[in-house]
Amino acid sequence: MSEVRQVEVLIIGAGPAGSVCGSLLKRAGVECVIVDHATFPRDKVCGGGLTVKAWRLLDMLLPGIKYDYRPIYRMRCQFENDPVCEFRAEYEIRMTRRKDFDYSLVKYYQAQGGELLKGSFARFEQQADGRVLVTLKSGEQFSCRYLVAADGANSLIRRQIHGEPKLHALFLEQFNEGVIGDDVFVHFSSNYKPGVFYKFSSIGREMYGFASLESNDDVPRHKETFRKTLTKFGVPVDRICGAYIPLNTVPPTADNVILIGDAGGFANKLTGEGLYDAFKTAANAKRAIVEGIPFRKANAEEFRKMEHQVHVFKFFFSPFGWRLIRWAMRYPKVIKWLFDAKMKRETFRA
Ligand SMILES: Cc1cc2nc3c(=O)[nH]c(=O)nc-3n(C[C@H](O)[C@H](O)[C@H](O)COP(=O)(O)OP(=O)(O)OC[C@H]3O[C@@H](n4cnc5c(N)ncnc54)[C@H](O)[C@@H]3O)c2cc1C
Repeated sequence: MSEVRQVEVLIIGAGPAGSVCGSLLKRAGVECVIVDHATFPRDKVCGGGLTVKAWRLLDMLLPGIKYDYRPIYRMRCQFENDPVCEFRAEYEIRMTRRKDFDYSLVKYYQAQGGELLKGSFARFEQQADGRVLVTLKSGEQFSCRYLVAADGANSLIRRQIHGEPKLHALFLEQFNEGVIGDDVFVHFSSNYKPGVFYKFSSIGREMYGFASLESNDDVPRHKETFRKTLTKFGVPVDRICGAYIPLNTVPPTADNVILIGDAGGFANKLTGEGLYDAFKTAANAKRAIVEGIPFRKANAEEFRKMEHQVHVFKFFFSPFGWRLIRWAMRYPKVIKWLFDAKMKRETFRA
């Protein structure tokens, strides 16, 4: 048996949550190691859209970060066969390709002197001295003061603590390479309520998506609805891929094991947007570690926000909310104003 390696912070997962957390810790002079079972650059099923609050937060957290993106301003949304509500957003949505974007974040971490090891997490145990003993599938062991779980939607660390996720949304996607529009399009229909069909014009391709925003494991039925919807919008059906986003946010059970990003269930309950919350929870984990305060305190605003989103979700898909929003879509100027105001409030609040 090899010797147990001692580290201050061990991060499992080098996705956006893990690599941002690692970069922030390195910049603060905290020793950390990231372990990921993938070889980077690796892909991830994701639209790769960064709203203004996400890209601005990232720019602030990682000064000088460079990544490829396509700015999109044109927003279109539609209920059933109603007229399309279209407007130009004040702030761009940055469309990225996750394979390249995540690699840019990993390279930033490595440029701070961060160490990335290839390995697969197996289990952890709390030690009598307050440290955490982590064992990888290879048998390699680490003893750390903090274990940061950034191992994504299928987090084994979360499963070890909390069991199977209780609520997850199914997201299906199809990429059409070489077809390039210039908009974000969202379609609502009672055929797939609570859920949405959407299209993002990304870098060199269109990305079509379908979200079933409830804990529904009937994948074949949702795939069939997605196929029919693609056909309805004249999109040739190609290879469909999918992934779950865990929507139940899990509370911390120990101060030295911190769950961030998708591992902690930090994605928007209504839209599935998770990159902002991956960056935000990464920054809050760094703060908890550097200041020696519990993550539940450092991350209190995110926990509150996640609870609030459950109410917004219920309202949006309630018969009254649905009718109200559908009616409001007749007034693109009002929708633009609401959209820009929401983006501004979320981005620039103190
Ligand atoms: C179809 C779809 C579309 C989406 N579109 C958007 C969007 O447009 N905008 C947006 O903001 N969000 C979007 N999201 C959400 C977004 O993808 C996630 O919230 C985000 O990737 C979370 O980042 P993360 O670092 O927590 O997890 P991940 O990006 O999943 O990274 C987890 C990392 O952990 C590693 N790992 C996992 N298990 C282990 C293990 N046992 N041992 C070692 N390493 C491990 C993985 O290899 C991976 O690198 C979308 C999600 C889906 C499914």
